[in-house]
Formats: sequence, C-alpha cells, structure tokens
Amino acid sequence: MSALLLLTNDDGIHAGGILALKQALVGIGEIVVVAPDRPRSASGHSITLHKPLRVNKVRMPDGGEWYSTSGTPSDCVMLAGNELLPRKPDLVLSGINDGPNLGWDLTYSGTVAAAMEGAIMGCQAMAISLVNTGHHPEWDYTVAARFAAEAARLLLAEPLPPHVLLNVNVPIPPDGRVRGARLTVQGVRRYPGQVEKRVDPFGKTYYWLGGDLPEDTLQEGSDVHAVAEGFVSVTPVQLDLTCYAVLDELRNCSALGRMLREFGSQ
Ligand code: MN
Repeated sequence: MSALLLLTNDDGIHAGGILALKQALVGIGEIVVVAPDRPRSASGHSITLHKPLRVNKVRMPDGGEWYSTSGTPSDCVMLAGNELLPRKPDLVLSGINDGPNLGWDLTYSGTVAAAMEGAIMGCQAMAISLVNTGHHPEWDYTVAARFAAEAARLLLAEPLPPHVLLNVNVPIPPDGRVRGARLTVQGVRRYPGQVEKRVDPFGKTYYWLGGDLPEDTLQEGSDVHAVAEGFVSVTPVQLDLTCYAVLDELRNCSALGRMLREFGSQ
C-alpha cells in the first residue's frame, strides 16, 4: 500500500508554497490536500468549536482536486484524519510557509500547530517554512520543496518516535545559495510587542499588532542561528511543554513548593 500524505498550511489553499510542496512530493505516495480557504497565519493551535466547518472540493492549478475548509490549519488536520481521508495519514506536511517559524515563533505558528496536530494523531509530521531574508523579491520554493521531499521520503522509511515532529526552516540567503543543513534546537526570537493605535472614520480607536522586526538571540546550535548563517534548520519538536529544568527546584526549594506541600492539609 502506498503512503498517504496529508498536506496543509496556514497561508491558505491558494498560496504558492503548498502548490510547490505538492509538486515536489509527486511519486512519494498518495497526496491529499486539505487547507484553509483563506490566510490563517499566526492562528496557533486554535480549533473551531462554536461554529460549523465548511468543506469544498476545489479544482487546482495542478489539475488536482483539493479540499478547502473554512477552518484553521489544525481544523484541517482533524477534518482530514477523522473524516475526509480513507485512513489516518502516514505523514502530515504543513507548508511551505511564507516566512520563518523560528524560536518563539512556534507558539504563534499555525504552520507548526498543524504538524503538531498530526503528531497528536500519531502520524509522522513536518512543518516547512521559507525564510526570505529580504534580498529577493520572489519567494523561490525550489530548495525548500526539494528538501521537504527528501525529508518526507526519509520520515516514511525511518519514522520518528511517536508524537515528535520536525520543524524545518529553509533560508534564502542574500546570495541565494543555501550552505547546507543542520540539526538545531529551538532558539530565542521575540517580537518587541508593538501596538499601533489609530482612529477610525467614526472617531473610534482601533489597534494594529505587529509590523516590527523580531529580536533574535543568535545562540550557536539554535534554529535562528542556523538560518542566519544560511543553513536549513531542522528541529525535532515535542508536544511536552514541561520545564524539567525548574521542576526539581520548584519542588524542593521554593515558596511555591512549600505552599503546594501544605495546601489542603490545614
Ligand atoms: Mn503563514
């Protein structure tokens, strides 16, 4: 039986990245695309609970029939895995995202969350993002798509442990040449919360979030550093968010630990 691949993204079904990804994967297995009907970037791991989800079949530029949904990236994976596909997919691929998913971006990312949903479902899963450093007007998916296809083949042949996903970021360096690929850890990237306050034509205040550049900590071995150096970054990501480093400290030598021990015993 050939492998079943589910493709989704957070840039929406009409984004160039998901088409490039699909085209690169031809021949690896049976491919089904289930993607949001509109851009859903920075939707995180949100799912739709309080309104109906609509699904439409759409004829796409590659001649294929894809599923477009009114939901988030994670909704797409849930709909696919539980309803639209004949069986659970072997591999969930999310991307190719227009823009990085590095460091603390992961907590906002709809792209990575869709891959996480795949990992929760017990599938092999990978998020792929393209980091355009601004030196190139075009989003050239060639290298990212080729990398994704090679990695996809390997994930099927040599699966990761359950509930682990790969977060891949492919740079477009200033000279256009990727220098190689590295295994990395999640680094530090934060957005210095910028809120722009404006006034609408009716005199009412409204706000725009974002628009500012991220602040990176270029720690060696991290995803942010690898991409800044022109390397493809590959980070294995787990769903467990526990901070083991402070668990013992909290338990043994903190006021919180003491409170927890005494709580309820009075
Ligand atoms: Mn996006």
